[in-house]
Amino acid sequence: MAFFAPPSAVHGRRLVLPPSEAHHATRVLRHEPGDEIWVVDGAGARHRVRLDQAGEGKTVGTILETREETGEPPYHLTLGLGLLKKRSRYETFLEKAVELGAARLIPLSTRYAERDTLRRGRAERLLRAALKQSGRSRLPRLDAPTPLPDLLADTPQPSAGRTFLAHRRAEAGDPSLAEGLKDVRPDGRLRVLVGPEGGFSDSEVEAAEDAGATVVSLGPRRLRAETAALAAGAAVMLALNG
Ligand code: SAM
Repeated sequence: MAFFAPPSAVHGRRLVLPPSEAHHATRVLRHEPGDEIWVVDGAGARHRVRLDQAGEGKTVGTILETREETGEPPYHLTLGLGLLKKRSRYETFLEKAVELGAARLIPLSTRYAERDTLRRGRAERLLRAALKQSGRSRLPRLDAPTPLPDLLADTPQPSAGRTFLAHRRAEAGDPSLAEGLKDVRPDGRLRVLVGPEGGFSDSEVEAAEDAGATVVSLGPRRLRAETAALAAGAAVMLALNG
């Protein structure tokens, strides 16, 4: 598993591990000078580093090799999920969305969302841990809670990126997400929006369609919100070879 150090930790070929990572490297994993470790910077780079000095006070190494964009999918996927009453479910979504290759995560404030905040510090730690574990090199961007109308006002033209809104309607007939993905280029930009426990309101669905979003089904079963968002992320990953 890799360690995390932001780009500001790199000075020429010298890399200084942040204190919490230094603690893990030296106290937990017992790394010593001369050991080689991998360090990911969250901005697309993964460095192979030889430790020159290893201690909780200071752990410094020399970068031997840098690989760019390892573990990153060719497309740019944004997942928007309504804020959930159960914070732990939202945090599960954030962690798994990193593994699935999402580039941007947007907590949505919607009509039926029963919360309007996120535990930001905890969420960022979870994202970093998932980044290190999954072998990715870019940390997804985590937006502040965003009202759905603000996000819809920012909907790109379909030629610049597709927006899908997952919704179960009383009457059948909406395409599946899998069908919608047939029109997305493997290196395209796309957004998938999923409602909170109470779903999207009719007027939210209408507003999304007016803004150019395509309403899609995720199949015949009613999925929990975080399951729906992760199923969508997995569908994109498998359809676009990410
Ligand atoms: N009360 C809502 C209903 O009966 O449709 C259920 C909301 S569901 C728990 C939360 C969100 O997951 C929905 O807003 C939708 O975005 C997504 N979702 C769950 N199952 C889905 C499905 N089969 N097709 C499309 N979207 C689904």
